[in-house]
Amino acid sequence: MKLFGLLLASILFVSVCSAKVGKLQRANGLSKDDFATVLEHVESNLPKVWNTLTSIRENGVNVRLTSERKMGPGKAAGTDQIVISTFFLTNDLPKFPEDRLVIVLLHEFGHILHNRETERGQRNPVKHEFFAFAYSIKMAIKLAENGDSGPLDQVIKNLKIRNKSGKPKDPHTIAIKELIKTPLWTNATAALEGD
Ligand SMILES: [Zn+2]
Repeated sequence: MKLFGLLLASILFVSVCSAKVGKLQRANGLSKDDFATVLEHVESNLPKVWNTLTSIRENGVNVRLTSERKMGPGKAAGTDQIVISTFFLTNDLPKFPEDRLVIVLLHEFGHILHNRETERGQRNPVKHEFFAFAYSIKMAIKLAENGDSGPLDQVIKNLKIRNKSGKPKDPHTIAIKELIKTPLWTNATAALEGD
């Protein structure tokens, strides 16, 4: 698992030297004790998630933990803030194994990068989702090339499901429908099959 962390640190990102390491923060409503318990749990039981979080923070993103569940597993805001729901980190959810949580984090970091790299006028919800999904797939391919195809397996599986069952007008669904027509998708599925 050390390797996974090193790997992430080396492939994931951009301008590590210029970025200030982001903070781990606690949202209102999450007690100090619960905050500490969640962090301990993640560090010892979800090492890939922990390493991904660390790499993202090293790229200048503050990560805030919240006990709120309705927002889903994660949400990105602006150029330096990701909020993660502790519910998805601490419960053993069959639909959210560790490899999927890694993809969630990469997806949210993709949103951050898109905000950093574009002007407001260039963005729209579909483009945003497209970029975030594409980013998570690219990173998952790199991880697979380096011996861990778990995250790639999860992202392909879940995008296929959402392509079929997502609400047609949801920007996520529209972005996924565009994405599966791209060479990136072809490469991703090939990388998994060649595993
Ligand atoms: Zn998104």
